[in-house]
Amino acid sequence: MDGTWQEAEGGTLDIVSPIDGTRLTTVGAANAADVNRAVAAARRAFEDGRWSRLAPAARKTVLHRIADRIEAEALALTVLGVRDNGTEISMALKAEAGSAAGTFRYYAEAIDKVYGQIAPTAPDVLGLVHHVPVGVVGAIVPWNFPLMIGAWKLAPALAAGNSVVLKPAETASLSLLRLAQICMDCGLPDGVLNVVTGHGHVTGEALALSMDVDVMVFTGSGTTGRRLLEYSARSNLKRTYLELGGKSPNIVFADAPDLEQAAKVSAMGIFRNAGQVCVAGSRLLLERGIHDEFVAMLARHAAALKVGDPLDLSSQIGAVNSERQLAGNLGFVADAIAEGGDLVLGGKRILQDTGGTYMEPTIVTAVQPHHRLARQEVFGPVLAVIPFDTEDEALRLANDSDYGLASAVWTSNLSRAHRMVAGLRAGVVHVNTYGGSDNTVPLGGVKQSGNGHDKSLHALDKYHDLKTAWIQL
Ligand code: NAD
Repeated sequence: MDGTWQEAEGGTLDIVSPIDGTRLTTVGAANAADVNRAVAAARRAFEDGRWSRLAPAARKTVLHRIADRIEAEALALTVLGVRDNGTEISMALKAEAGSAAGTFRYYAEAIDKVYGQIAPTAPDVLGLVHHVPVGVVGAIVPWNFPLMIGAWKLAPALAAGNSVVLKPAETASLSLLRLAQICMDCGLPDGVLNVVTGHGHVTGEALALSMDVDVMVFTGSGTTGRRLLEYSARSNLKRTYLELGGKSPNIVFADAPDLEQAAKVSAMGIFRNAGQVCVAGSRLLLERGIHDEFVAMLARHAAALKVGDPLDLSSQIGAVNSERQLAGNLGFVADAIAEGGDLVLGGKRILQDTGGTYMEPTIVTAVQPHHRLARQEVFGPVLAVIPFDTEDEALRLANDSDYGLASAVWTSNLSRAHRMVAGLRAGVVHVNTYGGSDNTVPLGGVKQSGNGHDKSLHALDKYHDLKTAWIQL
């Protein structure tokens, strides 16, 4: 905070590894006074222009340096993150440090290409539209991909000239604290980035209630998202951008180009990172004629996935993030069976002797659209399978959800693919693949999956205000 490491007045928080249940360390548990000091530091830095008034090209140089350092320290950063969040390192190397470096580079390169506008006014007036930084950005992020999602917020916010107060999740603070040190070492001026660790309902609440935070950006659950909107209403009406959860439909038609490939990719589409992926394809809609064959293929691929120590490069699925999360996953399985679902694979906690939190990839068929497993986000390795008979029915079932984050369609019929892309109410529709993305395209949801977009040039809009200059000539 403000360029130095400071003790939190609010005490400390234990960091427990999901790999083996050991207590790794403690971090500060910031209270409201701590948060207010961080916000004040961010405000001072913003107002005196030490970063906000630098030429975009100068900010770009610092952001590139940060990307260089993330790349140079990629392994150490990733291991640090895996130790407190449990993501399999085989995936985290690319998805965490690799992705974060790319995101810093993307916005470094973008920011000195952002132009203002001259409005088509009458000739005796000059109407200029400037992009200006919003001021102090509060960012609250979840535990599933702390570096990747942290970078999605930090890189465009900093590139645009804002100061930031970042609050990591309770169970995934370590890699973001290291990233803050990297930012300082790379010449980001003191006070421009401040990290406050701690409990959501204390640290996060204080940040979101601050009268001096101009914009909140958030990734996490809908429950917390709702609270953030309330906090905004109760404080200074700060703009609040939410990236929330999903119950994303993965729709496989009988005419999919390669069913075996579809089954293999669909297994990873739900089970990677133990299902703790916002865009996870957690509702598999299967055309009835291929239902049994496809479920058998999928179960074979899923059963072959190696679940284990996330620091072992051969593990394909790591740990569930916490005991609380694991208990929730098992509760979903129990409810699904009680409601009439058929457990085809998994359903149990495994590797308990390690002291860690691991769960088998789990597939439940005969799920009805009204069942809890079809409606609520598990955020764990549990797949609901639902059959359909016609394209219309597939679309209706897919859209019958409070969520609208991701989706996928597998078909070799081009017209059908386009019809489904047009009809699906989701922020992203994958066709004949699942989960692909990069920095060039936005990620965000519709309905209760959120109201903002991370990534791409569109994300910069959240971190800029528009200011009009009306000049009488
Ligand atoms: P969560 O909402 O419990 O926590 C997210 C963050 O909010 C954490 O930092 C937490 O400390 C903080 N928080 C909790 N209560 C708060 C409060 N009262 N006030 C302020 N902050 C508070 O979510 P989670 O369990 O960490 O993350 C999982 C959720 O995130 C899932 O729903 C998942 O789908 C979603 N997610 C969405 C995306 C996306 O891009 N749309 C990406 C990843 C995860």
